[in-house]
Amino acid sequence: MDDRIKAAPAADKTVSEARLMSVLNTAVDGIIVIDEQARILLYNQACEKLFGYTPEEVAGQNVKMIMPRDYAQAHDGYMHNYMTTGHRKIIGIGREVRARHKNGTEFPVELSVGEASTPDGRQFIGLLRDLRSRKEAEQRVNDLQSELVHLARVSAMDEMGAALAHELNQPLTAIMLYLQAVSRSLDKRNDAANETFKSVLAKAVHEAERAGNIISRMRQFVEKREPNRRPVDLNHVVGEAVELTLVGLRHRVNVKSTFAPGLPKAFAEPVQIQQIVVNLLRNASEVLKDREDGLVTVSTGQDGSFVTITVEDNGPGIPPAAMPTLFKAFSTTKTTGMGLGLSISRSIAQNHSGDLIVDPGGHGRGARFTVQLPAASREEEAEAGL
Ligand code: ADP
Repeated sequence: MDDRIKAAPAADKTVSEARLMSVLNTAVDGIIVIDEQARILLYNQACEKLFGYTPEEVAGQNVKMIMPRDYAQAHDGYMHNYMTTGHRKIIGIGREVRARHKNGTEFPVELSVGEASTPDGRQFIGLLRDLRSRKEAEQRVNDLQSELVHLARVSAMDEMGAALAHELNQPLTAIMLYLQAVSRSLDKRNDAANETFKSVLAKAVHEAERAGNIISRMRQFVEKREPNRRPVDLNHVVGEAVELTLVGLRHRVNVKSTFAPGLPKAFAEPVQIQQIVVNLLRNASEVLKDREDGLVTVSTGQDGSFVTITVEDNGPGIPPAAMPTLFKAFSTTKTTGMGLGLSISRSIAQNHSGDLIVDPGGHGRGARFTVQLPAASREEEAEAGL
């Protein structure tokens, strides 16, 4: 039809044919019409750009010529199946498929197929949308997301920074007091005072170490570096993350940690896993901020080939309306929230071949988030020299 219309002198076209052709050629999506034998009857201008063939080259040819070999082989079967059983694989549904350019390159397209009954028999109309730019955009989003993973840590640190000064004040004041006590003891200069001197000095050292540890852990947390996945002791990683979060929390909350003994190592990048735990703990503490009896339970465990971290609170649970978009970026119920925490946390878990799953709770139960991470294999442990 396309061939005929295109080849025919303008004067021979009926008004409606000319109108139809101009509509088809204006469309940005590729449009192809085939008959029951899969022969191409119509092929619009957008298709010329997509596939590199002219309408003359494709007219009357089997539509398989624009499909990659594996699809092409299955196509006769699909057509036959539909003709005999009416069972629809794609008609009226639409899906993402691969298409093939004249030069052999393959590319993704979204294909929707409709059907028309004509005096010449059944015809199928395919609409093809080029997905290449969308795929590139998706790739960019992925790249940006990994950048965000880092940025989110840095911005979390900003908030922690203010709390840091406050928290460090306490051990440092203690150090001062101990040291003052030492100097007073020394003033007296007798043997008994010497003993006191030693024990007080030991305490001073301990407090100073504590302060130093907090700072160095925070620095490790924000440091930008290549992720280095290795077999890690999840109890240790989670324990540190809990400690780190408690330092930065705006609202005080009770946290109970239960660490399963004898857990297999997880194959993970520890800082990123800590980032998930920090996000989950902060969310939990936020929902509990007005509750006297607020409690967050953090536990580790094993589930088949996964090692798990569970963070559960006794808050109101996730509102059902928030569930469908819970893990989507920028979905938040908070006035000041960015809605990135859960989306980033899930991407991290999934990039580790694990997952982050949620039991929304409600009706008196709080939300429960479970991070699943693959247990390190023997080979991985051996390679890491464990
Ligand atoms: P943000 O904290 O910036 O809002 P998140 O992705 O971390 O972004 O969280 C998205 C939303 O999920 C929150 O706004 C909140 O409504 C909900 N949410 C997260 N954790 C909990 C929880 N423990 N209990 C109830 N709701 C929660």
